[in-house]
Amino acid sequence: MASTQTDDYQAPTSDKSFDAALSDEDFDTLFEQAEELSEYFREIGPEYDKKNTFAFPTIEKYKATDLLALSIPKKFGGHGGSLLQTSKVVSELSKGDSAITLAYNMHYIMVGIAGGLMSDEQNEYWLGRVVKNKEIMFGPFSEKRAGFSGLADMKAIPQEGGGWKIYGTKTWGTLCDAASIITTNATITDKDGNLPDTFEERVAAESFFIADFEFDKDTLQGDGFHVERTWDSLGMHATGTHTIVFDGFFVPESGFICEWRSGAFGVLEWASLMFASIYLGMQSRVLEESIKVLSKKTLGAVFGATVASDVKVSGVGHIIDGVGDMASRYEICRRTLYRTCEEVTLGLDDNWPMELRFPYIGLAKTFIAENVMEMTKHAMSMVGGMSFRRGMIFERLYRDSAASLFQPLNGDQGRTYIGEYLLAPEELED
Ligand SMILES: Cc1cc2nc3c(=O)[nH]c(=O)nc-3n(C[C@H](O)[C@H](O)[C@H](O)COP(=O)(O)OP(=O)(O)OC[C@H]3O[C@@H](n4cnc5c(N)ncnc54)[C@H](O)[C@@H]3O)c2cc1C
Repeated sequence: MASTQTDDYQAPTSDKSFDAALSDEDFDTLFEQAEELSEYFREIGPEYDKKNTFAFPTIEKYKATDLLALSIPKKFGGHGGSLLQTSKVVSELSKGDSAITLAYNMHYIMVGIAGGLMSDEQNEYWLGRVVKNKEIMFGPFSEKRAGFSGLADMKAIPQEGGGWKIYGTKTWGTLCDAASIITTNATITDKDGNLPDTFEERVAAESFFIADFEFDKDTLQGDGFHVERTWDSLGMHATGTHTIVFDGFFVPESGFICEWRSGAFGVLEWASLMFASIYLGMQSRVLEESIKVLSKKTLGAVFGATVASDVKVSGVGHIIDGVGDMASRYEICRRTLYRTCEEVTLGLDDNWPMELRFPYIGLAKTFIAENVMEMTKHAMSMVGGMSFRRGMIFERLYRDSAASLFQPLNGDQGRTYIGEYLLAPEELED
């Protein structure tokens, strides 16, 4: 039987952190900025949830902080924040408002992924722009046919003078309203725009690019692309996840980063663990709001499961148990996330079979996602019918938490990776 080898740790041989150089003291200063920004997100979040648009005033506020360069290595002018330090900042912001934070989270994800794959020269240029000009990055990869795991139908057609023109549609453009740097994937075609014939050639031709991204906010037109304001969803309204249609968007040769699939799988922890951090922050908010209401709520005289002349819900058995259950879930999820960040940073993931690296890192996200959904549902049930009314924080947390079903890895695909490996390792070796 294939071994999962998790009990058998070797001591870490190397520190694989992106750049573990941010001191605790400097981190505290940045974290205070995150706390302040989180307060601001908390104030304006309900308005943008209702308006169903990106929270535009947050751009200036976010850029006024030093948080854009949080995870950029010191050698490229950033603060050198580790996975865990970045995760803590993302969770803190998410406590204020998860939808607004999910948008800015794309910046951290793409700084982590692109930063881990670009050459030093590219990093100096692109990450340098984030540091010096406070520019924001985003990453629309998913397409309509199949989301993140679908090979890009978007085409990169080679141009005679060098570089590519991009044609195709990305349906999930979170943060497009604030970003000026795009990272995306497209499949390099022949000069006539034909995709490779075989599956293997297609995989090899799917490529990761970085480029400038600017468009007129009134006409929504950019040079070689336009934005369609299609975002209309159950929750996460303020993410502004619009559609981007590319129609001859030029990317010079210097914008080619690497082959997409082989590159991305080595650095996807920046996606999976940052999504986990969003939903951990949301869990903390669910717990906070539940305690606020349930510690004060009085039912007065009731004749039901409890029969009494005056009932405070904080004395009712299932409420006491329920709040304890929520706090326990949060604490176990927090430990799972922090420990996963640390294990990856220390290189302990080298002890896992290679095929399980991605799904095992993904466990933090899927576990936290399952728990946040359970917690938002349980909070509604304990707080009662008032939580169901529009504008109540609980109905919003319930809607927003449903987005945790989707971002990579989702639970089904995570379990499939693990089960497949355990049941048929020889086949996977092929
Ligand atoms: C609020 C929000 C913001 C987002 N922002 C972004 C963004 O900025 N950039 C971006 O690129 N994406 C973004 N996404 C998209 C998201 O991460 C997913 O890619 C998207 O939801 C579609 O992928 P999917 O796997 O969920 O669905 P589909 O790919 O349509 O999958 C449908 C079904 O097939 C299964 N499936 C898919 N692929 C496989 C496979 N290879 N093997 C087995 N089963 C499979 C899925 O598990 C699911 O059950 C965002 C999503 C949300 C909710």
